[in-house]
Amino acid sequence: MTKLIFEKSEKNVNGVNLTINDVNIDFIDKKYLSDNDCSILPEVSELEVMRHYKELSDKNFCIEKGFYPLGSCTMKYNPKVNEMLAALEGFCELHPLQDDDDCQGALKLMFNLQEALKTISGMDAVTLQPAAGAHGELTGMMIVKKYFESINQPRKNVIIPDSAHGTNPASAAMCGFNIVEIKSNEKGQVDIEALKAVLDDNTAAIMLTNPNTLGLFEENILEISKLVHNAGGLLYYDGANMNAIMGHTNPKLMGFDIVHMNLHKTFSTPHGGGGPGAGPVGVVDKLKEFLPVPIVDFDGKKYYRKFDLKNSIGKVKAFYANFSVLVKAYAYILMMGSELKDVSSYAVLNANYMMHKLKDYYLLPYASKCMHEFVLSGDWQKQDGVNTLAIAKRLMDSNFHPPTVYFPLIVHEAIMIEPTESESKHRLDEFINVMIDIAKEVKSNPQEVLNHPLNTPVKKVDETLAARKPDLAYKFHIESDI
Ligand SMILES: *Cc1c(COP(=O)(O)O)cnc(C)c1O
Repeated sequence: MTKLIFEKSEKNVNGVNLTINDVNIDFIDKKYLSDNDCSILPEVSELEVMRHYKELSDKNFCIEKGFYPLGSCTMKYNPKVNEMLAALEGFCELHPLQDDDDCQGALKLMFNLQEALKTISGMDAVTLQPAAGAHGELTGMMIVKKYFESINQPRKNVIIPDSAHGTNPASAAMCGFNIVEIKSNEKGQVDIEALKAVLDDNTAAIMLTNPNTLGLFEENILEISKLVHNAGGLLYYDGANMNAIMGHTNPKLMGFDIVHMNLHKTFSTPHGGGGPGAGPVGVVDKLKEFLPVPIVDFDGKKYYRKFDLKNSIGKVKAFYANFSVLVKAYAYILMMGSELKDVSSYAVLNANYMMHKLKDYYLLPYASKCMHEFVLSGDWQKQDGVNTLAIAKRLMDSNFHPPTVYFPLIVHEAIMIEPTESESKHRLDEFINVMIDIAKEVKSNPQEVLNHPLNTPVKKVDETLAARKPDLAYKFHIESDI
């Protein structure tokens, strides 16, 4: 059992010697000085501090330790060279209020990234401002709203399929739109008849993910875009699954008007506990003037922040996006070049390989060719008393991060598997074999499966209690006044 740093404290042990004469505290205003007793702070040597944090970090599961089949949150491998580039002094010591003249390099990088994302998405203009996918959606919906206001058509409805990520309806609702949900058909695709039934002159937009959250490419995407455009609506592309299509097709070819791209999913920048993300938004020509300001432009001589966009929705982020994320994504795009197309090919190949190997052991509710991910159901296992959550916990004892579970909502006991392009066949086979072993174990000894995890730092937790009454603080800390 790891002790807390407080429990490792020993009286009069120091990590560092502060020579009192070094600091003249007279210049610090008394109101900022605390009279609290500081002796409750842990006293630990430098070496022990290092060991303590190494021990904690060893408890973490990370991509450096094992495979992450983590659903549409593409937890791809993040090349370390990206980190080195983002840490260059010229980038990380910039101040956001610096004049354009003083940061031509950074502006050039942003301009070039906008251009690269234009090429990949097929869009005519791109803003780098939004800080995440959901923030991109919000930006997109604000643009939709302002666009219809500008042509005096206060359209109110945004159509969203039932397979959508929860952020889609949330973003549209935040902009005051009514959400019109449409059911997926038996193939897991948008039901064209259901779409036709809800399209009218109150339709502002449809929000679609393609490939959708089941990992399936919408076969009728061209018909869908025609129908929506004919009704006078706009098409919003949730680009979270861009990893499946890069260089093969793009949202513009499919008929979309607005796109967000999750740099932290497709372009290998870390996210979650690993750092902030970024959700640039691209638009077609007629929506250019609605983008948030400033956008980065080039006048042939100089890169500059352009503020005069006629119908801009204003700023969606203070200063300018998550710049270090932009550097990392740009490094990745340059490093891959035209091989970005192969990234998608391999991601799709790997997912199809795994799907075919697993489909005899787990229910595959939508049995068509998948894109970069596929969704199994744990319904067969549930009949034997082992639900999807238990399967996920069992996986952790085999040194695999669990996949996304219980999403998308339209699949019972969903297990969504996304291998990404960077894993070897050897590693994929290992995961497949463990999944097959678990399926067999469920048949032979379901109780045994339910006992796991046994090897993780935290064993079985009461999920409800953990969410409702999280116990995160060290008591000693709470009781003191600090
Ligand atoms: C991840 C995801 C989002 C939200 O993106 P964030 O960057 O996490 O805000 C939206 N839609 C889909 C389909 C996603 O997978």
